[in-house]
Amino acid sequence: MKTYEFSSETRSFLENIPIPLAVYQYVDDQIKPLLVSRAYRDLFGYDSCGEAVYSLNTDLYRNVHPDDIVRMEEYSYQFANRSGDYDIVFRNRREDQQEYHVIHGTGKYISVNGADIAFITYTDETDDAGDDSVVKAMLTTLSDRRSSSGSTEFSKHYDELTGLQNMSHFLGYSMTGIEKIWEKGEIPVILYFDLCDLKVYNSRFGFRAGDGQICKLAKLIRNYFGAENSSRFENDHFVVYAENQDIESRLHELFLQMKHEEGGENLAVKVGIFPFNNDGTRLTEACDRARMACGFIPKTRTSTFLWFDEGMVRKTSFKYYIMRNFEKALENGWIQVYYQPVIRTMTRTVCGGEALVRWMDPEYGRIAPGQFIPILEDTGQIYRLDLYVFEQVCRDHVRMERNGEEMSPISVNLSRKDFLHDDLPDAIDRISQKYGVPREFTNLEITESAFIRNVEKLGPFIRRFHQLGYNVWMDDFGSGYSSLGILKDYSFDELKLDMTFLENFNERSKKIITSIVRMAKELDISTLAEGVETEEQYQFLKKIGCEKMQGFYFFRPMPAGDLSVQLKNRGFSA
Ligand code: C2E
Ligand code: CA
Ligand code: CA
Repeated sequence: MKTYEFSSETRSFLENIPIPLAVYQYVDDQIKPLLVSRAYRDLFGYDSCGEAVYSLNTDLYRNVHPDDIVRMEEYSYQFANRSGDYDIVFRNRREDQQEYHVIHGTGKYISVNGADIAFITYTDETDDAGDDSVVKAMLTTLSDRRSSSGSTEFSKHYDELTGLQNMSHFLGYSMTGIEKIWEKGEIPVILYFDLCDLKVYNSRFGFRAGDGQICKLAKLIRNYFGAENSSRFENDHFVVYAENQDIESRLHELFLQMKHEEGGENLAVKVGIFPFNNDGTRLTEACDRARMACGFIPKTRTSTFLWFDEGMVRKTSFKYYIMRNFEKALENGWIQVYYQPVIRTMTRTVCGGEALVRWMDPEYGRIAPGQFIPILEDTGQIYRLDLYVFEQVCRDHVRMERNGEEMSPISVNLSRKDFLHDDLPDAIDRISQKYGVPREFTNLEITESAFIRNVEKLGPFIRRFHQLGYNVWMDDFGSGYSSLGILKDYSFDELKLDMTFLENFNERSKKIITSIVRMAKELDISTLAEGVETEEQYQFLKKIGCEKMQGFYFFRPMPAGDLSVQLKNRGFSA
């Protein structure tokens, strides 16, 4: 997508607005600063607007406090994906000074001539920050949050929907209470509350009903922890400080009450807990840690809490590393496609291969797909990866064919998230066409777990792939609960038996494998056993008539360039 160009009048109007304003566009998974106002330049200590835009472009977070960067990235990412308004407090150093100021950024997306443009305004909330009355007056008029209430003094400190303190008030005034707990020799906890699935609830029952859920939770939080300890940070996120004593049982009680609040159909609640030691940790960091713990709670329908642990910081920064460096990894060739040969059981010859992605990182070393694929699935970047892998397979096909190497079909893994893209089969096919690779030389593997919650959606995809002339394989067959049901409803060309059957290779698993292979034969579907590691397993699979095999006993995944030598050395090709 192209970067949006403002007309010179609009640009000049925006630059001269007496409010610290930055305008961004989300292009190609990147947040691009388009312009900043002069008031922004002054607030953040730049010499010119151009210099500010330039330095945001080179490093969006260069002056943000290091402890706030991960949170900023996460917020910005969520905001870029439209999962809420932008409303964040962070510490930032002016370009020309050393000390950090507390900055409050709020913003919205506005559609401008078809492009989604984010307008973010900033206020300096540091206690002794200069009082620029013009800016304040403008903000009061502009911000609907502040102007919708008759009392701006109230809405400056309190949230209008729930009456709880707002984020900046909480951050500014809670330390006194927290210090009192420290003085008693106790360690307070910071609790970060989040309602589960509010978005889905809003779209089913409307925003008013959603607000009702927020108010119910707010009321319970106030009852359990007291108004002076509680705040609403934004949307459905609440932060509380409390004494540590009996915290788990108090939360259990609150969960129970939420469940039975009038109406009964209430949302579940997630809570992250951070023990706030008096060790120099700032309140904003403590809130971040609690929020981070909350973010680690998986999607749930029952209310739960989770205590913070240090490993979460490492995992979170790894996640952002992957997210941020994915495009760079593609460009720099850190992402590579390895191949694991597939063996035909009867003849013990190679009859194909599976493409498996690898990330060789200059900082982290070799990163396993199990580590980065779930992250790319979360961020939506997986589609780009899978198409890239498919394209690389086509490129390797063309190169190997040119070298006169023996060609066999390669299967490529698709993520369940790829099926969010309706044009997946056609996008794949365009790549095959571009390289002139015949369709029977690439198979598509869909993991069994892709069918969970997606059952009706996958049918059309499979039909379209078949229509175009591709083989579709079911990967990890037997790993879930719905294997047989899926087999009943969809036509697959091949089943890949989940590796766990061979991992626990005993009489029981042998019986299961035998009956799966027999059943597949009756359905005219061929079978491939993954994870073959011993001669004994190989002999068994041969005996029961499983057609193909893949595993370390034969080959480990390897770069395309090693294939022909390895096959030759090991006597698998002429
Ligand atoms: P998978 O599709 O089930 O791939 C098979 C995994 O088993 C591979 O792990 C392979 O290296 C490993 N394996 C093969 N033979 C043996 C064996 O004999 N013993 C043992 N213990 N393991 C064996 P890998 O490469 O780490 O990939 C893990 C998973 O990551 C894959 O599981 C697949 O779900 C996913 N993945 C890999 N590449 C891609 C990709 O390009 N796109 C997507 N969406 N997922 C991918
Ligand atoms: Ca696979
Ligand atoms: Ca598999």
